[in-house]
Amino acid sequence: MAESQIEWTDSTWNPVAGCTIATAGCTHCYAMSMAKRLEAMGVEKYAGLTRQSGKRTVWNGVVRTDPDSLDTPYKWRKPRKIFVNSMSDLFHEEVDDDFVLAVWKVMAETPHHNYQILTKRPERMAELAINKVGDILPNVWLGTSIENSEVVDRLDDLLP
Ligand code: SF4
Repeated sequence: MAESQIEWTDSTWNPVAGCTIATAGCTHCYAMSMAKRLEAMGVEKYAGLTRQSGKRTVWNGVVRTDPDSLDTPYKWRKPRKIFVNSMSDLFHEEVDDDFVLAVWKVMAETPHHNYQILTKRPERMAELAINKVGDILPNVWLGTSIENSEVVDRLDDLLP
């Protein structure tokens, strides 16, 4: 969680670390090599999340929630655009419902921020964020990334 170099956001916030490949759009996921770099820098949260596959660094299947990070947005007093989980996918199947709902509670209680959530798992995003949480928060932007025309139907999961 830090100031971000990503041009469309102000900060990143990572309540979850680690992921697995979901689709062709994950093949060049920058977070895999970033996790390895952060591990090498001694950031414990990112330790043991990747393995080598030839010359490539890939996820090893470990997905880790970070309950301590749930406090972070409360400490940011000035409004920010916050990219949620640049190092994972909040709607990964290994992240349990209660943890997703805990993240939702933080976002509801910090309406001065705008949260940006992208997923490659829009079915679960729809199931949890739309059907289970109930209200769509006005300060939470939900999106899915579409890498090619074969997966354009991901949008259908998020349409009202
Ligand atoms: S869902 Fe996102 S974080 Fe996970 S492997 Fe794919 S691109 Fe990377």
